[in-house]
Amino acid sequence: MNTYMRISKIMALAYEKQIVIPAFNVAYLPMIKPISDALKECRTIGIIEVSRPDIENFGAESVRAVYEEYMKSADMKFTFLHLDHVPVIDENFMPVNWLAMIEEGITLGFDSVMIDGSRLNFNENVRITKTVVDISHLNNICVEGELGYVFGHETTVPPPYEEIFEKKLGFTDINEAAKFVELTRVDWLSVSAGSIHGAISGSARDLKKIRAKLDIEHIKKLKEATKIPLVLHGGSGIETEYIISGIKAGITKINIGTEIRQAYEKGIEHSQKYAEDSVKDTIKKLIDDYQIRNSVDILMPD
Ligand SMILES: [Zn+2]
Repeated sequence: MNTYMRISKIMALAYEKQIVIPAFNVAYLPMIKPISDALKECRTIGIIEVSRPDIENFGAESVRAVYEEYMKSADMKFTFLHLDHVPVIDENFMPVNWLAMIEEGITLGFDSVMIDGSRLNFNENVRITKTVVDISHLNNICVEGELGYVFGHETTVPPPYEEIFEKKLGFTDINEAAKFVELTRVDWLSVSAGSIHGAISGSARDLKKIRAKLDIEHIKKLKEATKIPLVLHGGSGIETEYIISGIKAGITKINIGTEIRQAYEKGIEHSQKYAEDSVKDTIKKLIDDYQIRNSVDILMPD
């Protein structure tokens, strides 16, 4: 079975069994081994991913560098490789050569890619996401799209969190979500329902993230409307009870970036080994919080 069959089958099974697949962002290349080691030790299926912001703002270097380090140090019985956030318009509101980046991921052999058209209007987002789905599916690669807007990456100051949550600012529209999935045939959908991204620029990137909440009812409605795995971005800093309810409501993939990046950056002040151990320990704790130790036994029974 090729990896495309494996990842789409595992995501489908995880969706059905309400088990979450954690996806860890690589902000620095030496994070890949401790992420993989933590997953292997806990016998948990997970995704290792890199986004354009990880490359531009931190030490992930390049899509190719992540691929090469992944091939060298990850245990692929437990991990998949995903290209996260290829934005069409970036966090500085500048256009990106998204097609070149997607094609690079496909050519290298990533298992899945994400096209982020969330700064476009609905029709443009549909058009570009569909283009990416077409070329990716031809190459047996799964695609994650994004509808709605998850605040936090942009260089401008976002509205206060309470206002975002109360007024559902950027929340994914239920009817649009159904239409988006039908028109694009995207495999997984990143939605906005209360989470926020960790800051990636300025001094804010070193601050502890604020405690975000999730609108569980909204997630349930999105699941009913789309019937595909939903993805939660900005997973760091959400209360565990919300995460557990979110998984039951329809979240199948959850992205963790800020928490492990900050563990690494803090650890590196002591030593390289301390930094890598901090990443590993942080992930093991998250695996227990999300109740997914030994998920390999359910998701890959044979
Ligand atoms: Zn994200």
